[in-house]
Amino acid sequence: MKILSYFIVSIFFIFSFSSCSNQSSKQLQASVEANQELEKLRQDSIKKIETKRAEFIEDSLKRIELQKQLIEKKEAEKKAYFDNLEDSTMVELIKYDSSLVLDIRYATENNFMKQKVYPCPKALLRKVAAIALFDANQKFKKQGYTIKIYDGYRPLSVQWILWNTTTNKNYVANPRRGSNHNKGCAVDMTLVDAEGNELNMGTGYDFFGKEAHHTYKNFPADTKDEILKNRKTLKTIMESVGFKSISNEWWHYDFKIKYPVSDTPLPCE
Ligand SMILES: [Zn+2]
Repeated sequence: MKILSYFIVSIFFIFSFSSCSNQSSKQLQASVEANQELEKLRQDSIKKIETKRAEFIEDSLKRIELQKQLIEKKEAEKKAYFDNLEDSTMVELIKYDSSLVLDIRYATENNFMKQKVYPCPKALLRKVAAIALFDANQKFKKQGYTIKIYDGYRPLSVQWILWNTTTNKNYVANPRRGSNHNKGCAVDMTLVDAEGNELNMGTGYDFFGKEAHHTYKNFPADTKDEILKNRKTLKTIMESVGFKSISNEWWHYDFKIKYPVSDTPLPCE
């Protein structure tokens, strides 16, 4: 009887073990399949992300290339437009050399009259003078400087305001004759360094006194060499492209070719 009991229990255990083993094997198989499925999903996701990334990069490169072509096309159109202009046409300088720095004092109250006489800060010159100025700017840049413009073309009616405001007639041209500024053939300027700081020229713009004269040398010892060197740099390069200095204003340069005076308003719109 006892032996029979052992036999039955053993059969039961063997059966149970076999059943359990089958179940584990199925679970293992299911787990492997689940893992494979997950791995496939992961690989698919990576593939999709990589495809999207490649598409995004390709689109971006295409957009950059299109923008580049658009800019080149506009530049070519602008150059063709500029090249076709008459030499006497007044051109807005910043449109053709965007590196120029503008500080159009007569469009502010920061000038000898302490009043704004230009409706907007625009700098224009006749095309032929503008080309020379652009050449000069390229030359200055090789030395680490950029042109800063205080004034270019000045409508004749504004010349009358300057004339009627100043008591020192040595520094303002008589509007009856007209200034070279009224002809679009003169520029008031200085130089700035790479950080945009004005070079020391000994006096500020529109300083009506002997210190602004080209012949003046009596500056303080610690700045004299620097001032004279800066003025010389300005004068040498401006003269090399066809401008001429005048004796009593270090900032003023006349172009060698003259045109009639004009009272066309500045293009403020
Ligand atoms: Zn001037």
